[in-house]
Amino acid sequence: MTLFGRFVCLTTAVAVILTGCSDDQPVKSQSDTKSVKYTNELFSQSMKLTQAKALPAPKIDMTTLKQKIALEATRMQHETSFYRGSRYKKQVALTFDDGPDNNYTLQILDILKKEHVKATFFVVGTMAKRYPSVLKRIDQEGHIVSNHSWNHPVLTKLPEAGVMKQIEDTNNVVKNVIGKTPLLIRPPYGALNKKLAKSIGNKGYKLIYWDVDTLDWNNQTPEKILGTVKKDLKTGSIILQHSAGSKSIQATVTALPNIIHYLRNQGYEFVTIDDMLNMPAYSKNSGPNKKKPVMKKVQPESQKSDKN
Ligand SMILES: [Zn+2]
Repeated sequence: MTLFGRFVCLTTAVAVILTGCSDDQPVKSQSDTKSVKYTNELFSQSMKLTQAKALPAPKIDMTTLKQKIALEATRMQHETSFYRGSRYKKQVALTFDDGPDNNYTLQILDILKKEHVKATFFVVGTMAKRYPSVLKRIDQEGHIVSNHSWNHPVLTKLPEAGVMKQIEDTNNVVKNVIGKTPLLIRPPYGALNKKLAKSIGNKGYKLIYWDVDTLDWNNQTPEKILGTVKKDLKTGSIILQHSAGSKSIQATVTALPNIIHYLRNQGYEFVTIDDMLNMPAYSKNSGPNKKKPVMKKVQPESQKSDKN
């Protein structure tokens, strides 16, 4: 394992500890419930409540459900950090960190396109700068481009100004390429503390973590990755995978069709993070396709990465 790999391992373990109480995090939900599938568990709970009150089943089922979802939405309004979506909606979000690159990211995009699945890509600024056409493809194929810092530091170890520079430098590259400014941030290594949450939250950004970690960066087999998803997945889970970084990511590519087929067979709807959490992925002044991308500041893709 490389030094970088060991660091990732250590800090990921810290992140797992930090996110261990994520089930208690209030989560906002969509008010429109028509197109959303709900869990059998909630439905049965709702049925019990209905029977106890001896009220018409269909009406009370939906009323109870909507009340629960509305309560979630209310509780979530002032939250900054998120680990999952609603446990009441049969949804799952695939997320890919550390890209884009011109190898694994392209293979992942091919699979997502073939399977008609939309995902969220948390991109590193240095990589986005090197592979602008791949970044552009992510956006053009309907996926969400989000921010994973400029060069993958531990944000909690930086002063606030340094944190903001990491975020804004990456956002500037993304804006130059796709014309949109990301609002969703995934701190490298899942680093989190109150200071970071406050400083980022005050700027209008949201911190997006995960509740299923495939550990795909660490020499996993495709079978092991799928097994982790099967073991740890819950309704509303956010799954962490990577689209660049090391040869290990080939296993991510190999596992992805099987993960998609498994989730689809289980009845999950694939959503992007903004849809799952009912929040904007981009700032209002960077609406889709409103501004022509400016490419002149972007270096050619032939330049090799000095990271990963
Ligand atoms: Zn990362």
